[in-house]
This record gives sequence, C-alpha cells and structure tokens, in this order.
Amino acid sequence: MSAAAPITQDVLTIPRKLPEGPVNLVGLTREQLKDALLAAGTPEKQVKMRSNQVWQWLYQKGVRSFDDMTNLAKDYRAMLAEHFVIELPEVVSRHVSEDGTRKYLVRIAGGHEVEVVYIPEEGRGTLCVSSQVGCTLTCSFCHTGTQKLVRNLTAGEIVGQVMLARDDLGEWPKPGRHPKDETRLLSNIVLMGMGEPLYNFENVRDAMKIAMDPEGISLSRRRITLSTSGVVPEIARTAEEIGCLLAVSFHATTNKVRDKLVPINKRWNIEELLDALKAYPKLSNSERITFEYVMLKDVNDSDEDARRLIKLIRGIPAKINLIPFNEWPGAPYQRSDWKRIKAFADIIYKAGYASPIRTPRGEDIMAACGQLKSATERARKSKKQIEAEAGLSSA
Ligand code: SAH
Ligand code: SF4
Repeated sequence: MSAAAPITQDVLTIPRKLPEGPVNLVGLTREQLKDALLAAGTPEKQVKMRSNQVWQWLYQKGVRSFDDMTNLAKDYRAMLAEHFVIELPEVVSRHVSEDGTRKYLVRIAGGHEVEVVYIPEEGRGTLCVSSQVGCTLTCSFCHTGTQKLVRNLTAGEIVGQVMLARDDLGEWPKPGRHPKDETRLLSNIVLMGMGEPLYNFENVRDAMKIAMDPEGISLSRRRITLSTSGVVPEIARTAEEIGCLLAVSFHATTNKVRDKLVPINKRWNIEELLDALKAYPKLSNSERITFEYVMLKDVNDSDEDARRLIKLIRGIPAKINLIPFNEWPGAPYQRSDWKRIKAFADIIYKAGYASPIRTPRGEDIMAACGQLKSATERARKSKKQIEAEAGLSSA
C-alpha cells in the first residue's frame, strides 16, 4: 500500500493545533501533556523530557507559575506562559469543624460549585472528592440526589480538588523529600462526594491516574476508594483501567426496597450487581469490597436484613460499612436508633465480617456523607428570603 505512506508521514509532521485560548495543563494525562507541548512547538526530540519536567513541577512540587519551573530555559517558560495556564478550582469558602474536618466550597468554570471534604483521622487523612455537580440519580435518602445534574467535572477539576487540599494543608514536599503515604496529612482519597463517579468514567480515571502517578502526587491505588451506586457495566472497567478499591452503595437486601432507595437498582438489580462485584477483586488484584449500608429507621435495619445481607455477599471478600443516616432538611427518613445499629453490626460481626459504624464527621458544618451542597443551597435560599423580606429582591 504505497499510497498510504505519505499520508501517514504528513499526519506525523503536521504540528497538532492547540485549541483557541490558553489550555489548562492541570488534568491532562501524560500523553495529552506531551501532545499539547508538541502542538505548542516543543521539538519532537525534547518533548518527552520537557513533559516529564513540567509534570514534576505540577504534581510533585506543586508550583503554579511557569516562572518557578527553574530547570526550563527562560524562553521555553515564556512559550508555556503564552499557550497554557495552571488552574485549580477556586476556593470560595472553607469551614473547619470542631472535630477538625475541613469543608471547602469550590467554584469551577461556569460558576458552578462543588464541595470537597477533608477528614483527619488517627494515622491518616481522607479527602472526599466530588465527580459531578449534582447527580442524575435520585437515591431517595441522598440530598445530592434531589439536585439535578448540572455537569460532569473535568479531570482537572477532579485532581484539582486534591491539589487545593494539599495547598491548604501545606503538603507539597520539600525538594528531595517524598513522604510515605503513612506520614501524609492527605493519605487517602474517597470518591464519595457529589455525583456518581462511574457516570463520569474517563475524567475520574484520568484524574486518579494523575493522583497515583509515582512522579507526582503518588498515592497508592490501595488508598483510593471509588464509591458507586451500582453502575454495573462500568465496574469491570474500574478494575481494569483504574485499579483502585471499590465501595458500593448497597443499602438494601431486597430488590423491592433497593428499587426505592437506590433507583438504579431497577436498571441493574441486586443479583446483577453482585455478579459484577464477584469478579472485581480478582480483576483489580485489590482487597475487599466495601459494602456501604445507610441505616434508615424501620426501612432496612432489621435483624432479618442483617442476615439477608450476609447471605447475599457470601463468597465476596467484603467489609460492611454501616452509615448512620445523616439527616437533611425535608429528608423522608430518620436515622436508626443507636441500639438498632449496634444489634445490626453485631450480627454481621458474628458472621465474620468487619462491620465498622462510620462516625459522622463534620456534622456541625454539614460536611457529612450525603449532606454536601445542601448547606450552601440553604444559605443562598435564606439570603434570598431575607432580601425579599427586606424588599431588596429584584424579582
Ligand atoms: N454516587 C456515589 C458516591 C457518592 S455518595 C454513590 O452513591 O455511591 C457516598 C455515600 O454516601 C454513598 O454510599 C451514599 O449512599 C451515601 N449517602 C448519601 N446520602 C446519605 C445520607 N444522607 N446519609 C448517609 N449516607 C448517605
Ligand atoms: Fe447520586 Fe450517590 Fe446520591 Fe445516589 S447516593 S443520588 S448515586 S450521589
């Protein structure tokens, strides 16, 4: 096929064009970064080295200005500044709870806002990251579920949450020092903020790849947990393309109840979900799957439920994380009594499973699971109300 050869060559030698306007380097995969530097005029021979250097400045050292990239020539830095920006979501407000939990409200392009929560614990610190503004799903106990999906976050906006938290914690390493996961303030990531991460698969994957990259933020894949409501077709892909730990919002032991609590169950029911989960640890070479189970009074918290749960998950390496329901204004459920949660946990524990009860954290700043965004929205609403009452409203 001699005719094909020149065309291929042409494609290789024509510099790829950058889109109009400056390109944000944060969130580009290594391949995309190389392509972008090439398109901006970096000679082909140098592009591998240059992209490694830029990568390390961004993700290992946390610099935010091309001027600080001191191992690059001055004119190369000027070229970078002409074509690119280094942009993180903007922190609009920051609340610190009595228990040390930090909640950041961050603004992303288009003026949308999402929340990020940092939870310090004994020997580790976990960042709860959002993947979407709102959620398409409508789990009946979840406040995010009452908000419409506004949009998916980009990879840069997702890994940007990790970076801004490191900024706030002052955790970019000094030159030559690479703290181990165990000694870090931000040692774990959970994709348990707003949104369904498996409905934004590519961006979540790219962001987590960046967070795991050994020449950067360098978090082990075992310290990243992705929580899904049960998007069955994407579960195997999560194992293959991300390889992090998996948590699943199980929450019920019959399809009838799960249909109500986690309506995606009508699309992929408990049996289909369990089939996908059985394959997961083998595919990703990972540890146990976390079954999240929100404790709702008189809905899913009986001894019978506990026993059914054990039966269902038999054969799957699992731990069960019991989440006392975090109430929000207007929620149609109540938190199970403490005694009931204990009794439920006990049955599970006796069957040989770890059954930690998740301590609600940051409740005083509305930072607990499933409460995200609500405080902000309420604050807005009441501000509007106040304005209306004072006759300031333009409406
Ligand atoms: N969309 C994903 C991840 C975000 S939600 C998912 O559903 O898994 C993170 C966890 O918080 C999920 O287990 C979710 O079911 C739980 N959750 C949501 N609202 C809650 C609430 N009000 N109280 C306690 N847990 C809640
Ligand atoms: Fe979306 Fe998860 Fe909330 Fe369900 S629990 S509505 S999937 S964020």
